[in-house]
Amino acid sequence: MSEVQGGPVEQPRRSHSPWSLQVARVSGIPIRVHFTFLFLLVWIFLTGGGNLGVVLLVVLLFFCVVLHELGHALVAKRFGVMTKDITLYPIGGVAMLQGRPKPVQEFWIALAGPAVNVVIALLLFGLSFAVNGHPPSLSGIAPGASLIDALFTANLILPAFNMVPAFPMDGGRVLRAVLAFKLPEARATQIAGGIGQFLAIIFGFYGLFHQPPNPIWMIIAFFVFLGASQEVQATVGLSFMEGKYVRDAMLTKYRVISSGASMDEAGKMLLAGFEHDFPVVAGEDVIGVLSRNDIARGLSTDGPSGYVAGQMSREFRRIAPDVPLESAFEMFSEGEGAPILVMEGEKLVGMLTTENLSEFIMLEHAKSRQRNGHRR
Ligand SMILES: [Zn+2]
Repeated sequence: MSEVQGGPVEQPRRSHSPWSLQVARVSGIPIRVHFTFLFLLVWIFLTGGGNLGVVLLVVLLFFCVVLHELGHALVAKRFGVMTKDITLYPIGGVAMLQGRPKPVQEFWIALAGPAVNVVIALLLFGLSFAVNGHPPSLSGIAPGASLIDALFTANLILPAFNMVPAFPMDGGRVLRAVLAFKLPEARATQIAGGIGQFLAIIFGFYGLFHQPPNPIWMIIAFFVFLGASQEVQATVGLSFMEGKYVRDAMLTKYRVISSGASMDEAGKMLLAGFEHDFPVVAGEDVIGVLSRNDIARGLSTDGPSGYVAGQMSREFRRIAPDVPLESAFEMFSEGEGAPILVMEGEKLVGMLTTENLSEFIMLEHAKSRQRNGHRR
């Protein structure tokens, strides 16, 4: 399986998995390999009786998967949507996009990946003529198949499978994009996501009742199901932010801590309230943010008499109150979930956390249900 993931319509996440290794960089996009993928190679080598040919085939297959993902990423780049990275997992690759493409852009971005595999298949077709004097056979990836035949077959299966309209797989993204030509994006995502989850259940049952049971189908089913529900949730959440500004959702009751305060005082503040993060001030100026982790670290290294200034992070994210709320959501999706300070010039006027953003969405959702007459 290979797929492309929209960055801001995801839950806030780390910039990349700590369990992956960067192996290359193409057009500024880091290509990473997840450690489980290396396990897969070792496992194939061992179960294949030390057959290096099979390992070579798998490496070449995944090279095709990387090209597929680069197809998504480079078309996205043409539309000004950057890709954070491409990561290879045992069941496929993921290109992590950093922006939110418009429906027509998503349509082309999603198609570009499978199109790359079709082009590779055509090249292999020509190569087979040049080397063997006949077209490649659809031998499958069965043992004993020649490398060209196996790769040719794989590069036909890969795009065919990816075009199954199981959102968030490529075909599902094309479907969502087409639906969004006519419908609001949230509605289009809900429909595509519902179809994706339905197909995921079918994949899962197929894997379960196949003789012998096939765990690969079950794993794919799991990821499609989960991916669909996450993206539907996030897109519906985003739709509630339309026409809203940072000012509408920000926390206005919060406590600040002085940079000269001690870790002991910071610890007491943490216990006394609900907040996990405190803006740090020196006189009138905001100079950093002190998080729960900073306090714990400070207490263990400097002890209770250590200063806040020694542990706070001086780099913090800021946003103006009159900026559309969606921009804040995008900032959260890029970072690690640390709060964003709302500043009017140099003056602190509020704070945004992932928690109060989700509360905002919850309330907007409730209001829209009331407007639509869903009363219980
Ligand atoms: Zn794809």
